[in-house]
Amino acid sequence: MPTLFLATLYEYSPLFYISVVFVCFVVTSGFVLGWFRLDVPIILRNSDETDSISLICKKQMRQVKNPFGLEIKNPDAASITSGITVTPDCLENSVLTFYWGCNVQKLQEILLHHVYCFLIKTPAALENALCKEYLHREQRFIQKQRKEDIFIQLPPGCHIEDFGLVPRARYPLVAFLTLSEEEDRESYDIVSMLTVVHIPDRSYRLSCRIIYQYLLTAQGQFFDLKQLFMSANDSLSQSIDKSFTQDCTADKDILEKFGLTEDEVQEETNKDCVVCQNGTVNWVLLPCRHVCLCDGCLKYFQHCPICRQFVQESFQLYSLSSPLNYDVCPKES
Ligand SMILES: [Zn+2]
Ligand SMILES: [Zn+2]
Repeated sequence: MPTLFLATLYEYSPLFYISVVFVCFVVTSGFVLGWFRLDVPIILRNSDETDSISLICKKQMRQVKNPFGLEIKNPDAASITSGITVTPDCLENSVLTFYWGCNVQKLQEILLHHVYCFLIKTPAALENALCKEYLHREQRFIQKQRKEDIFIQLPPGCHIEDFGLVPRARYPLVAFLTLSEEEDRESYDIVSMLTVVHIPDRSYRLSCRIIYQYLLTAQGQFFDLKQLFMSANDSLSQSIDKSFTQDCTADKDILEKFGLTEDEVQEETNKDCVVCQNGTVNWVLLPCRHVCLCDGCLKYFQHCPICRQFVQESFQLYSLSSPLNYDVCPKES
């Protein structure tokens, strides 16, 4: 039909025909290039265009003070036979309970227990919920704000040299940190932390590392603590030790953990935006967890400038309206 119309038109007046085709071309180009402020087809749109920001969902955040910290000291030296050294770093007096050979399925049940049955906020609560599904247990008292190394080892009488081939039924080591004083449990949102540690043995030699770190809250939720990847210089990213937890329950909130003092932040906040090289990095891109954009540059990116991953959500590290030290927990080292 259009062909017939065009043919008739050409026969009638070639000049008029050319003008009609030209006008159609201009109108189409206009649509394509968005001259008429109409929506430009997505395949022709620059993915990093300014107006694309509306597509990135900005996640609502809540800063939460985390009283617990646990690191593995010298992971290369750790093994099932030679033991492991860990360094707890807690803001309050705490109790650290180690479970060797903890049942994997039981641990997942415990997390659900915390959500649906009773809060796992004391060593006794965990002990009850575990139903003896572990091989060996030991407990230490942790003095607040004192980073002391703790060496633990399976007793020689256990005769355990490995935990079998993967997939395994038992985690080599689970460390459970909980606040020792009742009044502290009332003042923190986070009541306990479960750290799952892999330790190399005969059948699985992957080096020693923390596999999961779950934060359990007084509201009956649990969050998987994750590290952020800062584009700022090394000293900052090491000292800042910023982590956030991924949503494990249906709650929209994400918890953030700050392990530094206000002075440290202000001193070391660097202008390390990977785009303008001038702004302070302030936006966490999800799901890749890169922190590489400042407030001004965020709106130009729908893909992470470091890994090119599509940004599904983002959240602000420091809000300009609330001061940096608002919920930052003090740490003495
Ligand atoms: Zn910037
Ligand atoms: Zn990224």
